[in-house]
Amino acid sequence: MGSCIFCSIVAGEAEAFVVGSSAAAVAFLDIAPLSRGHTLVVPTRHVTDLLEGGADVLHEVAPLVEEVARLLVGRLGADGLNLFQSTGEAAGQEVPHFHVHLVPRWRDDGVLRNLVREPLAADDLDALHAELSR
Ligand code: 5GP
Ligand code: ZN
Repeated sequence: MGSCIFCSIVAGEAEAFVVGSSAAAVAFLDIAPLSRGHTLVVPTRHVTDLLEGGADVLHEVAPLVEEVARLLVGRLGADGLNLFQSTGEAAGQEVPHFHVHLVPRWRDDGVLRNLVREPLAADDLDALHAELSR
């Protein structure tokens, strides 16, 4: 994929701080981290997002996601971590090459604190469940 920055990193043509790799995936530090050690894990092949890659792309990155999660928690002494993936611009996806974010967390670090959650009324949960169960 000619102009894809993550394909260029996988190919070794663009600079990145690689912290792990497998036959199917590469892990490297995010240049604008949400926390110390924020890492991206990408498949070596170009796949845009979860809907294009399906379960296959999850399988391809999964072993390296686990390995790097253990590295970040173990080596940096994190108390935990968040794992997320954005599919589509509406979800905030900026780079159209599938990637899993690994964000090390420390107690009371305030990262992701602005996410707003509201309890949903029982009727609304019921209606939503019905819509998804058809
Ligand atoms: P998205 O919003 O697509 O889920 O996440 C894209 C992530 O890629 C962002 O966290 C951003 O900081 C990171 N990023 C964008 N360009 C580069 C780059 O050239 N190198 C690295 N290492 N990270 C990048
Ligand atoms: Zn790519």
